[in-house]
Amino acid sequence: MTEGVQTPSAFTPRVFSGIQPSGNLHLGNYLGALKRFADSQNSGVQSIYCMVDMHAITVWQDPADLRQATRELAAGFIASGVDPDKSILFNQSQVSAHAELAWIFNCVARMGWMKRMTQWKDKAGKNQENASLGLFAYPALMAADILTYHATHVPVGEDQKQHLELTRDIAIKFNNDFGVDFFPITEPVIEGTATRVMSLRDGSKKMSKSDPSDASRINLTDDADTIAKKIRKAKTDPEALPSEAKGLEERPEARNLVNIYAALNDQSVAEVLADVGGRQFSEFKPMLADLAVAKLSPISGKMARLMNDPGEIDRILAHGAGRAREIAAPILEKTYEIVGMVRG
Ligand code: ATP
Ligand code: MG
Repeated sequence: MTEGVQTPSAFTPRVFSGIQPSGNLHLGNYLGALKRFADSQNSGVQSIYCMVDMHAITVWQDPADLRQATRELAAGFIASGVDPDKSILFNQSQVSAHAELAWIFNCVARMGWMKRMTQWKDKAGKNQENASLGLFAYPALMAADILTYHATHVPVGEDQKQHLELTRDIAIKFNNDFGVDFFPITEPVIEGTATRVMSLRDGSKKMSKSDPSDASRINLTDDADTIAKKIRKAKTDPEALPSEAKGLEERPEARNLVNIYAALNDQSVAEVLADVGGRQFSEFKPMLADLAVAKLSPISGKMARLMNDPGEIDRILAHGAGRAREIAAPILEKTYEIVGMVRG
């Protein structure tokens, strides 16, 4: 978490976070994001959660797949325990303030800032010339997603830390450039034992929706047999599990499986290792598979039931978008005024 800058007390605490409907919602999204959203829902702070469809199209999405993935993601939120009556749930493209504020932030953010973003470098790869302009500008849209609600806290996985620092830089530069104290300096909230769930095939890469290997991740829609098989085949080392966390430091794959176990079971890593230290993976993997199936199968079952009524999902998203617009519109309007745009 970034230190040194306080969230101005003038801003009412408000939570915002988003997930891309880019298909293959996985265990990393659940432990790094969805489960934490559900767990914090009764804190009394207004929470806004967004299916960021405009981020998804920064890489090619088949239109029918995008529609399906957006509804499935909404079902994933609800099935994970996010209650659309308590939190605002909607898809980004229904609230035009995101795109409008993103344009203003495109004019605040500097090329040099964007070029340093590791997500841009990872996703554009060797062929940057052929990547979309949207993929490059992604973090400015993300800053707009957050700041159009004056959100003060953003719960995310570790991979989004750099984008949140850029969001703070954009807010600071905007406030300085125009001599205002208008946008809050957002706090990233990156907490828990599974803020970076790694690929099951490669302990140096994070689990991702966009990884071409399905065996690299556990999808929230996987059935019990598939989950057990993927965990059985997960890459590990030949050593037994240590009894203390220090023993995992140089063992990324082992650490990943222990972190997953701890997060799924609401335990600390020390508690898990006190139990399973000394055991071989041949024993631990079936324990992890049983736990994962016990925790995930009610979610996949509920997602499937919700997906039987896409009309109801669309109504929930439209209702959430209406509530989101009411918060975003006056903030956007004030931004235009600060920037000097004539408004009728
Ligand atoms: P894509 O590959 O399309 O970028 P993704 O798996 O990275 O998909 P996002 O929609 O970009 O998913 O991220 C949604 C949320 O899930 C963010 O808060 C992000 O930090 C979190 N997240 C993504 N991957 C992981 C992971 N492996 N471990 C923990 N949290 C994760
Ligand atoms: Mg991502």
